[in-house]
Amino acid sequence: MQDYLERIYQDVCQVNPAEPEFQQAVHEVLDTLSPVLKRHREFVDAGVLERLVEPERQYIFRVPWVDDDGKIHVNRGYRIGFNSALGPYKGGLRFHPSVNISIIKFLGFEQIFKNSLTRQRIGGGKGGSNFNPQGRSDAEIMRFCQSFMTSLYQHIGEYTDVPAGDIGVGGREIGYLFGQYRRLTNRYEAGVLTGKAVNWGGSLLRTEATGYGTVLFAASMMAKRGSDLEDKRVVVSGSGNVAIYAIEKAQQLGAHVVAFSDSSGYVFDEAGVDVALLRQVKEVQRGRVADYVKARPQATLHTKGSIWDIPCAIALPCATQNELDEAAARTLIANGVEVVAEGANMPCTPAAVELFQAANCLFGPGKAANAGGVATSALEMEQNASREQWPAEKAEAKLVRIMADIHEECAETAAEYGEPGNYVMGANIAGFVRVANAIVDQGII
Ligand code: GLU
Repeated sequence: MQDYLERIYQDVCQVNPAEPEFQQAVHEVLDTLSPVLKRHREFVDAGVLERLVEPERQYIFRVPWVDDDGKIHVNRGYRIGFNSALGPYKGGLRFHPSVNISIIKFLGFEQIFKNSLTRQRIGGGKGGSNFNPQGRSDAEIMRFCQSFMTSLYQHIGEYTDVPAGDIGVGGREIGYLFGQYRRLTNRYEAGVLTGKAVNWGGSLLRTEATGYGTVLFAASMMAKRGSDLEDKRVVVSGSGNVAIYAIEKAQQLGAHVVAFSDSSGYVFDEAGVDVALLRQVKEVQRGRVADYVKARPQATLHTKGSIWDIPCAIALPCATQNELDEAAARTLIANGVEVVAEGANMPCTPAAVELFQAANCLFGPGKAANAGGVATSALEMEQNASREQWPAEKAEAKLVRIMADIHEECAETAAEYGEPGNYVMGANIAGFVRVANAIVDQGII
């Protein structure tokens, strides 16, 4: 079986050269599937994997826009429908200069299994642009979003493909994208995008959901070992949506969060992060982490070294792919880290993951640990379809249940396949089996 999987991986590398992130994401999944293919020969016979690694469709388009000085810019837009066996393509849009086809494909591939784990009948997709929103005015962001949607609108829809946010895309961008979709289609199709503002179809708790969910997943892993977050020292990388609400939930559960970061450096705040201030800096001022330090002089900004040098019991990488490498993992382990849960997508390199597992550190892979965001997007679609808006308590209760179920399914699957505690294996297999069964049922398409 290993030969068969190796062959698929080699084919992926050959057909998709110069796409290292995509190859890495595929390798990480294939690496854990051998035992499931031994049990389910029908998946091999039906060519499930060969079909899974090839996106169903890929759309690449030009996004021209004009800045406030009248200068014309051109960016590249992407939307990839990776697999729709379980439901319409679902996944965010990322606006960041690092975006390229490899990044979007790795994210779309991950999304298939993540979305499958939520059990909410959503397929996997992803999109975005190499547009850099940093320093751009609201009017520039609006013009960019309108141009992006003008090329995209024909390819999305409530039952086809439902984009949402990711890095660089939040409520503001979703608003502009939705406005242009409505204008172009002459339809108020609320369920075409998620992450909408709560007064026109958004779900309460969507903003908090990914970060909250990551901490809930970490808490479930810890509970299984008879431990909890109370008084534990936590380091969270990033300072976007995911990081901010991971910090908030960790603090609600009694943990002591001492650091966060952005691309300019990391902030160490021994007294405990002031979330209200961080939200003010990032969400209201759209500032940088240095602005937090200006308002809170006891905190220190570090532009050299790694945030993972800070000793902690719980590490929550919530920034971006491959941000936590082998060297960082060694430092964390030497400093006694007990739990790592991925709030971002693929933030730990394969070598780092291996080290955490070998050190018996609890490791929650992003597919499972950050699924709370997309799960709450599916709850938003449910509310849109029924023209309801649930109170925050109901949305949170659902999120808590979903994260507990994902944890349970990953833990049980890992145990069933002989590797109790291996959440990477549990998440990959549980996510894969659900989508693979749907692919087999629906014939060769
Ligand atoms: N971008 C998020 C993720 O990586 C959320 C996607 C969504 O809500 O559709 O899962």
